[in-house]
Amino acid sequence: MIKNLIFDLDGTLYPESSGLEDECQQRVYDFFVAKLNISMDKAQQISENLLSKYHYEAQGVESELGLSQAEFLEYCCAVSTDNLAVNTELQELLVSLPQKKFIFTDSTTSHVNDVLTKLKVDRTLFDDIYDAEKGKFAYKLNPAAFNAFCDYYQIDPKEGMLFEDKEKNIVLAKSVGFKTVLINEQADKNTSADYYFSNINQALEFLKKEKLI
Ligand SMILES: [Mg+2]
Repeated sequence: MIKNLIFDLDGTLYPESSGLEDECQQRVYDFFVAKLNISMDKAQQISENLLSKYHYEAQGVESELGLSQAEFLEYCCAVSTDNLAVNTELQELLVSLPQKKFIFTDSTTSHVNDVLTKLKVDRTLFDDIYDAEKGKFAYKLNPAAFNAFCDYYQIDPKEGMLFEDKEKNIVLAKSVGFKTVLINEQADKNTSADYYFSNINQALEFLKKEKLI
């Protein structure tokens, strides 16, 4: 029985095509330029190197560059939410579902609040926001991050359903026992997720109608 609904934020509660992640990537370069006093070309190269080594730059900024992860995330996640549309249907669907709800993100709580405000989805519908800092900067690329999340809230993964747009995270979540739902605009059929949908509204409507949640 699913007692906990766990939502990724970026690319999951709003479509990836909104362009927020592109702006975030630009802010990563800008941060390196400003903090390391280097050229944009050099900043892009550093970002590429960190991505190929860690899959997420934040993981390497402290150990490789001596910069603060918290400061890096606060700066890079401070993207404009202008392109996001109000999602009244999502608000209504969330209100109608009795499970506990969490946001589990590798970004910051201030970014979550900005996005929810723009979507007009009430923050109080969620029991908690588990951001990078709460997760002690153990990002979702690591299975330990999913176990730490469950330990933090005393959740049995078998009673949890995770909504995510990144296949890599779906695979890890599934390996620790979560039911998984891939949210992807291409509705990629080659997923290891239990279910896949092109957007969050479709996912919640279907799962509710079929009494799967
Ligand atoms: Mg995401």
